[in-house]
Amino acid sequence: MPLNLSDSLQHLSGMNARLLKPLAHLVGGDRVFDLLTHAPIDTIARQSLSDVSTAQAGQQVQLSLHILKHAHAFRRGAPTRVHAVDTAGNSVHLVFFNANKPFLEKILPLQKQVTVAGTIDKYNIQWQIIHPEVVKTPVPAKPDNDTQLEPIYPLTQGITTRILRDVIGTALQKVEMPAEWLDATLLGQHKWPGLGQALNALHSPTRNADIQADAPARTRLAFDELLAHQLGLALVRTHMTAPRGVSFTTHGPKRQALLAALPFTLTHAQTHVLAQIDTDMAASTRMLRLLQGDVGSGKTIVAALALMNAVDSGAQGALMAPTEILARQHATTLQPLLAPLGVRVVCLTGRDKGKTRTLLLKQIRDGMADIIIGTHALFQDQVAFQNLGLAVIDEQHRFGVHQRLQLSAKGLQNDVLVMTATPIPRTLALTLYGDMDVSKLDGKPPGRQKIDTRLISADRMGELIAGLARHITQGAQIYWVCPLVEESEIMSLAAATARHADLQQHFGSAEVGLIHGQMKDSEKDAAMADFMNGRTRILVATTVIEVGVNVPSATVMVIEHAERFGLAQLHQLRGRVGRGSAASHCVLLYHNPVSETARARLQMMRDSEDGFLLAEKDMELRGSGDMLGTRQSGLPDFRMVDFVVHRPLFEIARDAARYILSRDPHLVSPQGRALQTLLALHRRDTALSLLLSG
Ligand code: ADP
Ligand code: MG
Repeated sequence: MPLNLSDSLQHLSGMNARLLKPLAHLVGGDRVFDLLTHAPIDTIARQSLSDVSTAQAGQQVQLSLHILKHAHAFRRGAPTRVHAVDTAGNSVHLVFFNANKPFLEKILPLQKQVTVAGTIDKYNIQWQIIHPEVVKTPVPAKPDNDTQLEPIYPLTQGITTRILRDVIGTALQKVEMPAEWLDATLLGQHKWPGLGQALNALHSPTRNADIQADAPARTRLAFDELLAHQLGLALVRTHMTAPRGVSFTTHGPKRQALLAALPFTLTHAQTHVLAQIDTDMAASTRMLRLLQGDVGSGKTIVAALALMNAVDSGAQGALMAPTEILARQHATTLQPLLAPLGVRVVCLTGRDKGKTRTLLLKQIRDGMADIIIGTHALFQDQVAFQNLGLAVIDEQHRFGVHQRLQLSAKGLQNDVLVMTATPIPRTLALTLYGDMDVSKLDGKPPGRQKIDTRLISADRMGELIAGLARHITQGAQIYWVCPLVEESEIMSLAAATARHADLQQHFGSAEVGLIHGQMKDSEKDAAMADFMNGRTRILVATTVIEVGVNVPSATVMVIEHAERFGLAQLHQLRGRVGRGSAASHCVLLYHNPVSETARARLQMMRDSEDGFLLAEKDMELRGSGDMLGTRQSGLPDFRMVDFVVHRPLFEIARDAARYILSRDPHLVSPQGRALQTLLALHRRDTALSLLLSG
């Protein structure tokens, strides 16, 4: 029976049942495919020798040996020595401690020729290899002294390099490759190998470069991952953007009235983004758009203007925020703008209970409310809309593809606009939001002052404190952020507490507040309120400064141990100041020694306030091996993809996926079927189920 990539490893011939569990754990799955995509992380060079007397002790070698004798140990603890000769007639001993006799006799049969590999050593005058690897499938007829590279893999308890190479070797030999799912033209264009060739190449590197992310085999396999992911997203997209049958009015009376009532004119970026939204809303297919904008770029008003399209078309609009506080903040901003235009705004959160809640739900159901503002729970609860036209989701946290699908599972046919406040690199945007159209709101409304950002060594703490004292006399308020110490909350708490005490000494206890993650909500609220009302002038905080909290009079941000933060995080923190009209400052306090990357990061922070640029740079600096919080960020755990090295492939995969589905929406052509296999191998179960349902 042929072995398939999707088969369980237990079907692999010669597979030791006891190895199954640790092996599956190591390679992230129990299928042949999981094993074969377990990529080497390094290589070691090994010389093929026909005459061992030319070897250096300690050298990695591969020898073809004739087995003469198994000399088993007489006393406990002594090794078994297998006597053999190489092709030049030199005696070589293969040494095994705690050997399993029958097993040894099986893999090193008497009077047979066997290829072994390992570290050659000399014991007195005797050449020997301790625990050699028996090479089951030696690369045929290599010339003498040819250096061969052996892959080194990530390992786990019970799974040695030798075991891994063995099972991978067997799998590669036995497996029958599925039909190619990539276009021949695409393969040709990029000079990528076919799937079988790629998997073989991955495990038999000839140069160290062969196992690097940019090697053709790895790149092809990375593209497979990206394509599987993008096909999944494209299927979600097809599913979500089904025709809704109506098109919305886009420049109706309420929209024009709101525009006229604004105390400012829209920026170019805002106008541009609105035009994109209008086009979507005027079309009869459903909008699924992401609005990416830096903090303070003016997303709320764009959302409000888009919501007017729905109202002008006789439909309702919903605006959902991640937290209750932010929902109320939106309501407070929009109510006074919209009420005069005769737009009825209601706010529904978990706080509304009993009669109030019943009344609000009734208003929403009967269409007495035009704009409904609330938390994401609006969609999860049994809130019935009379006629929802547009849902705007203000993200802050992740509103992942699953939640987006949930939206459509509710049978709602409304347009969807998701807004995110964290600029992320394009590759990440394509990965997380490849199903959506993306609008970017770059630049800030006019009149904002640049935040003066400085790098200051902690040695100059005295000067800094004196400087802060001057700012305080002039009425400034200061955030002082202490970093998370090595993931240890207790230590970071200690650092913040110590800094708090220290600053109280300088500025007086009443002037300095403290807020950290271990405090009760009520204590946090109180500390925050004291700072907002100006009762405290300095607020010492661990990294969790409440999202969305707006203290316009805070104009100085000190970030201690700034060298420990990522760029994106520094950017978010800095965004807490510069919200009023007064000049703002950001002090990046670093402790020497600072690594080169950290220094580069700090300099970039000093030189740019562009969140998108910083996000790209951050990723380049970190490399994709160090993408923090991959899991919680909702990113799939790619095995081959490198977010920096494979950057150009993301868009190609997205476009390819959309193109494929436009021609073969159910993936039933021969290539379509092959692509179904790709989806299954990459465990895109949601995608496959959409395929069946759609
Ligand atoms: P965010 O994108 O972070 O949600 P907001 O929508 O809260 O930003 O906007 C930040 C501030 O900028 C608000 O006070 C808003 O009124 C103001 N604003 C938005 N657009 C403009 C504009 N075109 N000109 C001037 N101020 C603007
Ligand atoms: Mg906002």
